Amino acid sequence: MRECFHTIIVGSGLAGAFSALTLSRSRHVLLLEAQERPSGASQVAAGIVNPFAGLRSRPMWRGLEALESLNALVKEAGAEHTYNRCGVLRPCADEDQAEAMRDIAHRYPRFARWIADVAAEEAFAGVTAPDGALQLNSGGIVDTPAFINAVLAAAEDRGATLKTGAVVTSWKATTSQVTVWTRSGESFAAQHVLLCTGSRYPAFEALRTLHLHCTKGQVVRTVRPPGCTLAMPVTGRGYIVPVKNGLLVGTTYERGYASEAPTATASRYILRQASAMMPGLQQAQVVAAAAGVRVGVPGTRLPMVGPISERAWIFTGLGSKGLLLGAVIAQLLPSWLSSPDTIPPELRVRWSN
Ligand SMILES: Cc1cc2nc3c(=O)[nH]c(=O)nc-3n(C[C@H](O)[C@H](O)[C@H](O)COP(=O)(O)OP(=O)(O)OC[C@H]3O[C@@H](n4cnc5c(N)ncnc54)[C@H](O)[C@@H]3O)c2cc1C
Repeated sequence: MRECFHTIIVGSGLAGAFSALTLSRSRHVLLLEAQERPSGASQVAAGIVNPFAGLRSRPMWRGLEALESLNALVKEAGAEHTYNRCGVLRPCADEDQAEAMRDIAHRYPRFARWIADVAAEEAFAGVTAPDGALQLNSGGIVDTPAFINAVLAAAEDRGATLKTGAVVTSWKATTSQVTVWTRSGESFAAQHVLLCTGSRYPAFEALRTLHLHCTKGQVVRTVRPPGCTLAMPVTGRGYIVPVKNGLLVGTTYERGYASEAPTATASRYILRQASAMMPGLQQAQVVAAAAGVRVGVPGTRLPMVGPISERAWIFTGLGSKGLLLGAVIAQLLPSWLSSPDTIPPELRVRWSN
């Protein structure tokens, strides 16, 4: 008799990999990935973990819970080596922003510190912030591809099956199960299918009218400018992330893009923007560029998770905060799958009119 899984997960980016880890604690999971290894936006992510969001660095939705969830998943996957908890630096662009950031430092002294003179601090050599900066001591940098590999390995150790090169093309539900088909003609049965396909959701007619939008983002890898000893990510006008042998600099937010490939124009724009925070950057030698597509939910700017039909679920809309939002949702997913009514209303599936 054919093996029947509890859940088939489609896609092994952050959403799919995190779900495989949390669901495989108590369920028989099959994960189908179209490429030979995890792909999509998750392979391009700069890896910044920052529970404070936006121009004014406000605490993000369930930010501290998300931070704890991420820490728990890192531990569960044995992936401490992929997470550098170095904090994040947020230089201010003007006095207005500085006032908001000072307020954040005052309200959240456990998490944030106001720095009036960034140039005086050795850890930020090369960074300029004439209006001051906020130093966030929670969060840091995750080597996202390495983390995903560790998460998938931990899920497999626990009995999850991972099948790569398996492009899912359709599914069909009956009262007792759902059958999922791949492009090569294979089929698999389960109680649920969880679609974590990132920006590829329009490939499925049933998902085309979901209330989602796609935004292309590019990052540029450069060598370090002379004298740059930066030890933590800097975010403001774009971001600068210290990585092995260089810097990762981002990003663009493009809607209506003609191609998903990186462009030289976007690379120039990224370096021009970020050089307001690190003047030496505009001349830095570019080593590589990469682009990916983020999926967001217009209006809520929160993830979307829940059933789209009786046995098919979607988990998407992680936007620019895939690591934190992905972790907090994945931790809650096992209980939501059993009791869909407990999914918070702000995350439920929405359709475009
Ligand atoms: C430039 C850029 C920088 C970013 N930086 C950060 C950052 O610093 N910090 C942060 O937290 N977030 C960051 N993000 C956001 C983060 O990358 C995304 O939120 C997250 O990766 C989305 O994960 P996902 O699993 O939903 O989708 P994806 O990562 O796109 O994964 C989807 C997966 O599904 C597979 N798939 C698709 N269709 C099928 C199919 N039919 N059958 C089988 N498999 C399929 C794909 O191959 C892919 O592996 C960044 C994003 C971009 C673009």
